[in-house]
Amino acid sequence: MARTPLIAGNWKMNLNHLEAIGVVQKLYFGLPTKYYDHVDVAVCPPFTDLRSVQTVIDADSMPITYGGQDCSPEESGAFTGDVSAAMLAKLGCTWVVLGHSERRTIHGEDDALVARKVAKALEHGLTPILCLGEGEDVREAGNHVPHCTGQLDGSLAGLSAEQVGRVVLAYEPVWAIGTGKTATAQDAQEVCHALRARLREQHGGAVADGIRILYGGSVKSGNVKEIVGQADVDGALVGGASLDPEGFAELCALA
Ligand code: PEP
Repeated sequence: MARTPLIAGNWKMNLNHLEAIGVVQKLYFGLPTKYYDHVDVAVCPPFTDLRSVQTVIDADSMPITYGGQDCSPEESGAFTGDVSAAMLAKLGCTWVVLGHSERRTIHGEDDALVARKVAKALEHGLTPILCLGEGEDVREAGNHVPHCTGQLDGSLAGLSAEQVGRVVLAYEPVWAIGTGKTATAQDAQEVCHALRARLREQHGGAVADGIRILYGGSVKSGNVKEIVGQADVDGALVGGASLDPEGFAELCALA
């Protein structure tokens, strides 16, 4: 089944709202319009930039979508510092990154919490970009595949096949994030293939074949083509390299 590649930039805690406007404009003008027929391009800025990013994208009807980097599992109320899925949806977000390894590690998020966030995001019409991936110790012990399929099961617990079909997965080996160490294209394919096989087992062929599975971890223009060329890899979640709009435009064109 043909799945349009998705290249999503995760800006993390970088770029203020004025810088964000400049980056989106440079990205748009740096990537000739014809490429948008072949690749979906998204940016996930910090919450404080979303309104500015929305305004600049709407003003020029740019074919770029955007999303948040997290959301609360709760609907609304006394949750100081949190941002709800409804708030992101109201700002025109398409996506929300959930279960990123930095949130799992720094904020102690586990699969059960991530699953609640995924359900809440779907309830509000957002597409979760659900991140999964093993640490270096797990990879060295050769347990990366069961580790990732276990995270998949836990992070999608309680969802129907219809709901799972609306999720994007991102396989992000923790040892490759922001380190410059990239998994080989074969490593990425191995885990993405295993995730798809697990989805097939649990939720059926239509869900497994339709879902997009991205790779993330030190993706740049030099390696994106080979990685996204793998049968089960449908795009990339890009951290550091998405902060340079010219380089990110080139990367999207190569995907
Ligand atoms: C990420 O944080 O999702 C990521 C993939 O980062 P980087 O591309 O910088 O490794």
